Amino acid sequence: MNTIAHRLVQIQARIKLAEQRYLRPPGSTQLLAVSKTCPLADLQTLYKLGQRHFAENYLQDALPKIAEMPTDVCWHFIGPLQSNKTRPVAENFHWLHTLERLKIARRLNQQRPAEQPPLNVCIQVNISADPNKSGLPPEAVAELAKEISTLPRLRLRGLMALPQQQTELAPQRIPFQKLAELYAQLNQRGFELDTLSMGMSNDLEAAVAEGSTLLRIGSGLFGPRKYPQ
Ligand SMILES: *Cc1c(COP(=O)(O)O)cnc(C)c1O
Repeated sequence: MNTIAHRLVQIQARIKLAEQRYLRPPGSTQLLAVSKTCPLADLQTLYKLGQRHFAENYLQDALPKIAEMPTDVCWHFIGPLQSNKTRPVAENFHWLHTLERLKIARRLNQQRPAEQPPLNVCIQVNISADPNKSGLPPEAVAELAKEISTLPRLRLRGLMALPQQQTELAPQRIPFQKLAELYAQLNQRGFELDTLSMGMSNDLEAAVAEGSTLLRIGSGLFGPRKYPQ
């Protein structure tokens, strides 16, 4: 059996089992295939197996893949975004998960082509207040969310976090629980968020347990990466 096909079955089984175990509605956690550093052929294999959501971290790798893949793929940008690189994201992607600055939000809003629907965005939150991690501190998220909701070419969908990797379930759950609490608070304040982008290959069970709606899975689908990140 093709190894990507095999890994896809395994990941889908893990998601299904976690949804059952943690009493999540079946199918409430979507699978986002993180294809950074992967060759086009691997993306095509997953596409043929029905995968439609793909995520990339590096623009120079992503743009040729976007040009080659079928047009019904939904592309997510999940890498750090500098203000001089916003235009290709605004023009070529459907989602951005790493928004953390108003300046970037304003540029994307200006650059999003009129004939396309608004760009879906998630605010990246530094949920464990880790000085080495990007993302907004939790207490600053509501203010940026308010600003984003005034920008017509962006649609604020939710929150994203990339916590420190842990091996055990209990510590894995802590930052995800904090992110889910912040998400619930924002929705109580009237924001209409529907996306919690959290969970990767090693901690997807913890993320499903805490309410993830979008799992970003790389090595679990494509195998170990040749170089880090
Ligand atoms: C690489 C990456 C992932 C996927 O990580 P895996 O451990 O390979 O599943 C998820 N999110 C972000 C932001 C990434 O950079």
